[in-house]
Amino acid sequence: MSGVLVALDVGGTGMKCALVSPSGEIVHAERHPTGADRGPEAVTAAILDIAEGLAGKARAEGLRPVAAGVAVPGVVDEDRGVAVWSSNVGFRDVPLRDLVAARLNLPAALGHDVRAGGLAEARLGAGRGAAHVLFVAIGTGIAAAHIVAGRGFTGAHGAAGEIGHVVVRPGGAPCGCGARGCLEAEASAAGVARRYAALAGTPATAAEVVAKAAAGDQLAQQVWRQTIEVLADGLLTAQALCDAEVIVLGGGLAEAGDALLDPLRTALRDRLTFHREPVLARATLGDEAGCVGAALLALDVA
Ligand SMILES: [Zn+2]
Repeated sequence: MSGVLVALDVGGTGMKCALVSPSGEIVHAERHPTGADRGPEAVTAAILDIAEGLAGKARAEGLRPVAAGVAVPGVVDEDRGVAVWSSNVGFRDVPLRDLVAARLNLPAALGHDVRAGGLAEARLGAGRGAAHVLFVAIGTGIAAAHIVAGRGFTGAHGAAGEIGHVVVRPGGAPCGCGARGCLEAEASAAGVARRYAALAGTPATAAEVVAKAAAGDQLAQQVWRQTIEVLADGLLTAQALCDAEVIVLGGGLAEAGDALLDPLRTALRDRLTFHREPVLARATLGDEAGCVGAALLALDVA
């Protein structure tokens, strides 16, 4: 009977759940609403039910579940297996790893969603073969994961990688964290949309801004150029701290592809002095990276 990993990637609105082979292939996938509005106890109960359901599904199909991995947003203490704090799901010191292990009677691992995604990109995706990978997810927010030799760097409090709150424009746009001019406030997909709306007087999503810029809309081109400049400032700081071999860009804004990567590569190169230039690459695992990463965390404890 072949072994399989139970993996859940818990987001603010939805959970991506899967049975994953030890080589990282998704053999069965499910999506469920997170239901964060029902409170953290209900979300925790749903996670346990779904994980148990996946393990049952594996056995019904003649597979042997060998471990479970769960990735969650916020501050995560991976050593203790505790979801310490999350703004969008509401976790406060939830011992998720032990709860999952007890319910499934299997070894379990708890990880951070962006670090799990970075782990998957580093081991199996765009960072494959590199020992020092920085994964930067640019979506509604911006966060990073520094993966060294196939392991995510967590920091002392499970809060490493918050590149979104590096201040790149002092006194700039207000950020959800309470500061001003954070990378996330200036250059996330939400930040791009906000700057375009302020300039053009009409709303547009970040993807629409990219499309308008490509079609010759001057305001959109201005907003996109500013976005590239701000991101390059943020990545310069990241490179100074991490000295990455490959920087993998993921999240919704990376869907812009070469319209993001080509000018960003140039803008970053212009800023580098003594630093070594990293390879800039687009993530290859898409929105399944977090779930595959949760499975890799499970594999490490199986
Ligand atoms: Zn901030």
